[in-house]
Amino acid sequence: MAKEMNRRKFISLSALTAPLFSFKAIADNTIGGKPIILSTWDEGKNVNAAAWPVLSKKGRALDAIEAGAVYVEDKISCCVGLGGNPDRDGTVTLDACIMDEHANCGAVAGLEQIKHPLSVARKVMETTPHVLLVGNGAQKFALQNGFTKEPAILSEDARKEYESWLKKNEYQPTINIENKNQNGPFAPVFFDDGSPNHDTMGMIAMDTAGNLSGGVTTSGMAFKIHGRVGDSAVIGAGLFVDNEVGAATSSGVGEEVIRICGTHLVVEFMRQGYSPELACKKVVQRIIKRDPAKAKTIQVGFVAMNKKGEYGAYSIQEGFVYAVKSSVEDKIHSSKYFYKQPA
Ligand code: ASP
Repeated sequence: MAKEMNRRKFISLSALTAPLFSFKAIADNTIGGKPIILSTWDEGKNVNAAAWPVLSKKGRALDAIEAGAVYVEDKISCCVGLGGNPDRDGTVTLDACIMDEHANCGAVAGLEQIKHPLSVARKVMETTPHVLLVGNGAQKFALQNGFTKEPAILSEDARKEYESWLKKNEYQPTINIENKNQNGPFAPVFFDDGSPNHDTMGMIAMDTAGNLSGGVTTSGMAFKIHGRVGDSAVIGAGLFVDNEVGAATSSGVGEEVIRICGTHLVVEFMRQGYSPELACKKVVQRIIKRDPAKAKTIQVGFVAMNKKGEYGAYSIQEGFVYAVKSSVEDKIHSSKYFYKQPA
């Protein structure tokens, strides 16, 4: 608590000592200045590179987010877009959401055969009175707005994973059946190459004007029940932006994030004066507190940034990483965590 009060005092004093603050903060590597973009997982580095031309030309954070999403959705990978992991019926269904500096937001869930779900979410935000469209309705809306229907192309990784899942598992509508071959019913799954079985690209950015936006795009948890919607389509869960305070995004078991309105809570803790890292930590703690035994076997991570461009992350398990790009850095950071993965 004393540490927190010092931190708050430091934040309020920083306006008076701006040059010193900037120097110290850059040395601490917690602030990148404007513009800045943060994206989840290793692939975030490439996503940030795709978004950077918009930000470096003083473009809008929202456009940078969409550019990053288009890049990653175009890639045929097991993680995002039409090459993503299918549900347990073998169908790839996509969730995405977007939020801007005016608290405008849009989302799609369970979208099939449309390559750029985040762009559809943006259309929902900009052209309809609604926030979330799902399933056939979302697809119909996309087609009416110039998006074309394309077959899902399972990436090699996704195909192999699905085929091995089919061999080992019968179809049973049981939550998290995808994780049952691991060290418990909710254990994190890792692919053969060691990469975690998480499928979400979450992005938050601040542009030169100091405005924040964010977006999330995903094929969701691998081998989910057809119709399941994760946190990535739910504003306040997988993404929240408050232009007065900051922004946050999440990855991991979406159900746990939805239960506690995870990213909204992160932003509210930042509003109370907590640093982005501590705000993320407090929310992760809340997930752990609700069900400590289960928390030991799942992964959830949050990444956050405040209006000063300070950023941080926290996850339940070791292994959550995020990429940061600004004018002073372009690198992947490891999130702090509660539980170390066994070697
Ligand atoms: N959060 C995503 C979901 O629950 C999955 C992930 O990040 O791995 O759909």
